[in-house]
Amino acid sequence: MNKALRKAVIAGNWKMNKTRPEAKALIGELAPLVKGAGCDVVICVPYTNLETALEATRGTDIKVGAENCHWAPSGAFTGEISAEMLAELGVEYVIVGHSERRQYFGETDETVNKRTRAALDAGLKVILCVGELLHQREAGITEEVVGLQTKIALAGMTKEDLKNIIIAYEPVWAIGTGKTATAAQANEVNHYIRTVVQKLYDKAAADAMTIQYGGSMNAANADELTAQPDVDGGLIGGASLKAADFAAIVKAAGR
Ligand code: PEP
Repeated sequence: MNKALRKAVIAGNWKMNKTRPEAKALIGELAPLVKGAGCDVVICVPYTNLETALEATRGTDIKVGAENCHWAPSGAFTGEISAEMLAELGVEYVIVGHSERRQYFGETDETVNKRTRAALDAGLKVILCVGELLHQREAGITEEVVGLQTKIALAGMTKEDLKNIIIAYEPVWAIGTGKTATAAQANEVNHYIRTVVQKLYDKAAADAMTIQYGGSMNAANADELTAQPDVDGGLIGGASLKAADFAAIVKAAGR
């Protein structure tokens, strides 16, 4: 598998953090630090910050994403936001299937698939999250869990669609816990996901697919994680809320 065939992407997931003035200040601090980065840089922000982020990132190397989207273009879905609404704002990326959505908001593999389809149809790029729970890793079924999540999420997606999908492998036990997967563990599962993609499509599609690692990635461990042959950048939660930390991760991935 040839790492040179794909671009690393570092994406921040701000989760439910930052008011609009705080968002503007963070982007103002971050933009000069990631100028000319050797990888793509995305910040996925709360819906209320999207316009602020789009405005503040204009003319910079930072792209803007949302943290979720609904599968219907419009309708009686109180509290939801459609992919079309995001695209209309000028948003480029959307996270789908984050483990916090699965854990706390009843997201299933099937709804992840529907949201992915809707996002692609609206012209968005998808950061599709998969990952096992701690007890699943301990039971030795990580590959089965992650393989199934990947296959269901990608059901109905064409090879062309894959060009706009990034997979983020995020072991749930490593998210926000400070417990990082070792570089070897991250690479092993990312490699496995790539073999799943190869079986579903072909080698060229698998080689071209950006597969990130996410889970307590920070300025100190980013070098080792992003240097792994099957790790193409990362999805960053906590460390994306501090400009210097996030920029250090971007620098590591851009090497
Ligand atoms: C995430 O929210 O996707 C994430 C990886 O969080 P953290 O970096 O805080 O573990």
